[in-house]
Amino acid sequence: MTDSPIHVPMYDPLIEREEIGNAVEALEMKWLGMGEYVARFERSVAEFLETDRHVVAVSTGHAALHLALRIAGVGEGDEVITPAFNNVADFQAILAVGARPVFCDVDERTLCIDLHSAAALVGERTKAILPMDYGVWNCDYDAVERLAEWHGLRVIHDAAHSFGSRSRGRRVGSFSDLCMFSFDPVKNMTCIDGGAVIVRDEADVERLHRMRLIGMGQPASVMYQNQRAWTYDVSELGYRYHMPNLHAAIGLAQLAKMPEITERRRSACRYYNERLGEVSDVVVPATDFADVCPFLYYVRVPAETRDAFRVGLRERGIETGIHWQPGHRFSLFEDARRGPLPVTERIEHEIVSLPLHSNMTDKALERVADAVADFFVEERVG
Ligand SMILES: *Cc1c(COP(=O)(O)O)cnc(C)c1O
Repeated sequence: MTDSPIHVPMYDPLIEREEIGNAVEALEMKWLGMGEYVARFERSVAEFLETDRHVVAVSTGHAALHLALRIAGVGEGDEVITPAFNNVADFQAILAVGARPVFCDVDERTLCIDLHSAAALVGERTKAILPMDYGVWNCDYDAVERLAEWHGLRVIHDAAHSFGSRSRGRRVGSFSDLCMFSFDPVKNMTCIDGGAVIVRDEADVERLHRMRLIGMGQPASVMYQNQRAWTYDVSELGYRYHMPNLHAAIGLAQLAKMPEITERRRSACRYYNERLGEVSDVVVPATDFADVCPFLYYVRVPAETRDAFRVGLRERGIETGIHWQPGHRFSLFEDARRGPLPVTERIEHEIVSLPLHSNMTDKALERVADAVADFFVEERVG
């Protein structure tokens, strides 16, 4: 790749006056650990999700997945079915509880879990299914639920890409068996780093509160007043997975902007679809983005031009990404049990992620679309 300057990066986090103001306030409070901002953050996220389910804030999306798997009772020797086309954090969280990922294929249209492929892999050791929403798509929640009910499986819904999306009017996060979000630096909403687990039961909340605080039975109600108890029991395996006040404070500023963030990301995707849909070698996502807060805009290009396409865009100052290399391509998972993966193994060579920001200017969008069109014109002229 050349070193021409990057004009449009893949990501551009929305850090404005409000985020910085909240961060300064949280620092000046000098209660740097988990405290009152975290309580407010959890309450505000639950309100945003329009749910009376419980929100437990944690340090990362990976931590949220790990804890959700513990809550689902997944452990040593169990299997969890998940698309090979998923984030490494999911595979590692499954290993972290002593279980093994089993790789299924994805749906050709949405690149989300293919439920027929998943159903064919259910075995004696299968304990849970871990579907995820990809980029601009919600997965088929009804089909996930039917499969889980039929086989008595728990569902850990990875909604890292779909914070702010809806499905039949309901907010994503308000209806799944167990749901998780990530608020890492590049997601629709960021806490710098952060995550959340959404659960139904009080008892699960108490366990999550213990597990995120290295197992300490320290009441959250005390910590939420910027205080701590000095005596407590430790009754189970835990981790240092809590969310600090500073991160929650930044998240609160972001949460207030979700309507604008959603609108901007959606209109950016619509612009891309309109412009890039006309380029003959480019396949755009077949959706109008009506219900979603899109996280990742991707296109498919012919496998044999994909690498040249990425170099060509880079030369035109546009950064691109690949989400993702499939799980069975990594040495750690090369022996993982899996079904046939025809869609995964086709799209892995075709997908390219294009820049998408919450405050993307029309100029930046135009620049990307022009670069894509220009690349293919030159390809053809030779
Ligand atoms: C980002 C992401 C995660 C992991 O979240 P972190 O906060 O980065 O640990 C998990 N799953 C998916 C689909 C993601 O995009």
